[in-house]
Amino acid sequence: MYYKNIVVGCGLAGVVIAERIASQLNEPVLILDRRSHIGGNIYDYKDSISKINVHKYGPHVFHTNNKLVWDYLSQFTSWHYFMYRVKAVIDGNEVNIPFNIDSIHKVFPKFISDRLEKKVIEHFGFNKKIPILELNESDDADLKFLAEFIYEKVFLGYTIKQWGVKPEDLDKSVSSRVPIYISRDGRYFQDKYQAIPSYGYTKMIENMLNNSLISVKLHTDFSEIQKLIKYERLFFTGPIDEFFNYEFGELPYRSLDLRFVNYDKEYFQSGPQINYPESYDFTRSVEYKYFLDERSESTIVSYEYSEAYQKGVNERYYPVPNARNHQLYNKYLEKAKQLKNIYFLGRLADYKYYNMDQVVERALTLFNTLDEINR
Ligand SMILES: Cc1cc2nc3c(=O)[nH]c(=O)nc-3n(C[C@H](O)[C@H](O)[C@H](O)COP(=O)(O)OP(=O)(O)OC[C@H]3O[C@@H](n4cnc5c(N)ncnc54)[C@H](O)[C@@H]3O)c2cc1C
Repeated sequence: MYYKNIVVGCGLAGVVIAERIASQLNEPVLILDRRSHIGGNIYDYKDSISKINVHKYGPHVFHTNNKLVWDYLSQFTSWHYFMYRVKAVIDGNEVNIPFNIDSIHKVFPKFISDRLEKKVIEHFGFNKKIPILELNESDDADLKFLAEFIYEKVFLGYTIKQWGVKPEDLDKSVSSRVPIYISRDGRYFQDKYQAIPSYGYTKMIENMLNNSLISVKLHTDFSEIQKLIKYERLFFTGPIDEFFNYEFGELPYRSLDLRFVNYDKEYFQSGPQINYPESYDFTRSVEYKYFLDERSESTIVSYEYSEAYQKGVNERYYPVPNARNHQLYNKYLEKAKQLKNIYFLGRLADYKYYNMDQVVERALTLFNTLDEINR
């Protein structure tokens, strides 16, 4: 069988590239996915009990500063404007995440919190995001105390649960990213555009696929039909190590066990996401009705248990960022570069944690450079 363009993976990366090829080049595209649904990890559906829109692979909030990406997706969806707020339970109190001035006042007695607020503003200025590593490097005993408190109470327990290793076994980039936000801004993201597709992500993906030149085949694993098909271009958004038959070894991932629980009450928790750095075995609980501000008598909540990825047992969720894994990925990347007319993109092929806007940008950029690559 011959197809001009084949895209492996019907997640956001695969769908953007397919949409561009069909709508801009007027060429047919076949998308394959081994799952039973479109959308990859942003797939959402209506829960049959509460009728609330649920994100099957964990909570997704779209946020970006990239107007091009925002305008591109806005062709396929209207938006429910939504600013994410995350709380963490620390010493029994729900405090704002990222840790900010309100969080300082929530966890310390007034005479300490007033002093800390004054000190952080004097040292770093107002409305600044300071990595806690930088806070810790200060000579001031109070600031060091605050850095250690945030590290211990907010970061350490969550990281061990999330990654299954101590922070020192991960890239410095992970811990250096944990900020204290010297502000009263309680939003999780500060991007200019923050929203959720009004009718959900799956509907947005359906609209992107609504082109007679695009066909989708689900329940189809590329590796099983690879030898039967010929193509002019192949876009691969699956795992790069799997594509090369694990020649250099497996790229490690963390996985998640998401357990959904229905509650026969209108609301279960105080906001969409509560983190539990210190207590329980799950990392966070998420209540979905907040996302599209849906009204219903009952509610649905997911609990996330982080676990190691095992081939054939669970799903790949997060690439594990450390030097060894980057080196291993680079070996696959070198092989990938030698292939003509096969393009690798998306979180699994690039072995990178991407936010949705980064995936869209990656696919749009690849599409815009196709001619140059082929020259
Ligand atoms: C828990 C969690 C929460 C997140 N929350 C956010 C958020 O709030 N905001 C945000 O911007 N981003 C978020 N993200 C990131 C977001 O999920 C990704 O950026 C995006 O889904 C990646 O799209 P993709 O197409 O690269 O990969 P995927 O969605 O994984 O798509 C790849 C597809 O390829 C298919 N496939 C793989 N191999 C094969 C094969 N051999 N044959 C056939 N099909 C194959 C898979 O079945 C899959 O459907 C989150 C990620 C996680 C893990």
